[in-house]
Amino acid sequence: MLVKDKKFKRYISESALKQRIEELGRQLSEDYAGKNPLFIAVLNGAFMFAADLMREIDIPSEISFIKFTSYHNMHSTGVVDQIIGIEEDLRERHVVVIEDIVDTGITMTEVLAEIRRYHPASVEVVALLTKPKALQRPVSIKYTGFEIEPKFVVGYGLDYDGYGRNLCEILILDEPEQSDENGDWGTE
Ligand code: 5GP
Repeated sequence: MLVKDKKFKRYISESALKQRIEELGRQLSEDYAGKNPLFIAVLNGAFMFAADLMREIDIPSEISFIKFTSYHNMHSTGVVDQIIGIEEDLRERHVVVIEDIVDTGITMTEVLAEIRRYHPASVEVVALLTKPKALQRPVSIKYTGFEIEPKFVVGYGLDYDGYGRNLCEILILDEPEQSDENGDWGTE
């Protein structure tokens, strides 16, 4: 299947995503019962995952969104320049960050450092996808949807240069990745 100009193949089906997200929702609802958690979804990539995950949460909770500006290409993840959108009073709140994918862990390390500046009661992460073999920072992801191989994926919120976010399943790159300057994934 072509997304923009690259060939991708099916990797995680719509039904597998749905089933795993139901499990994550159940687990989070149990773990955070009585805690009125504040979910913070990282835009843009996590928008679809967050929407589906929140429908599986059956306890009182709130959701908010953050966005950061950074540069990524196919091989190097960038520095997080700025995080925007933390407006809630996070003090004493139980925060759960909703992220689409943790690759090197650099982004999440910075997001967590920023959130901790507001002195929440606790912070955990739910990531739909993690790439354990690509991890460069010791970031602890308490809730993971799927551990995947360190290859480029698109779909279900994740883009390739702006395209593919609307796909209902996750696709994986079906050709050798090139380490050139043109492999821009686009922004978050
Ligand atoms: P990290 O800082 O952990 O290396 O990268 C995290 C961010 O890089 C994710 O939020 C996502 O935007 C982007 N990213 C990492 N791996 C992939 C991937 O395989 N596909 C896409 N589309 N984005 C990715």
